[in-house]
Amino acid sequence: MLTASCHCSSVKISVPRKPRTLTNCNCSMCRRYGVLWAYYKDSEVQLDAPDGAVDRYDWGRKSQDFIRCKTCGCVMQ
Ligand SMILES: [Zn+2]
Repeated sequence: MLTASCHCSSVKISVPRKPRTLTNCNCSMCRRYGVLWAYYKDSEVQLDAPDGAVDRYDWGRKSQDFIRCKTCGCVMQ
């Protein structure tokens, strides 16, 4: 099990294992975030956050939304 948290520790995320691959997406959002993405089944990801602690951002075709901590702004999913 791997766990991580946002900068202020309000939001935590857990996955069952290390990712098999990482994706360096070059879309307009991911270039700005500067992240490498690991992909898991929805059922494998546990996001723990108090009510109202996260917000979602999506745009364009609404095919992907980014879940961010409202306090520190870290992208968590
Ligand atoms: Zn935070």
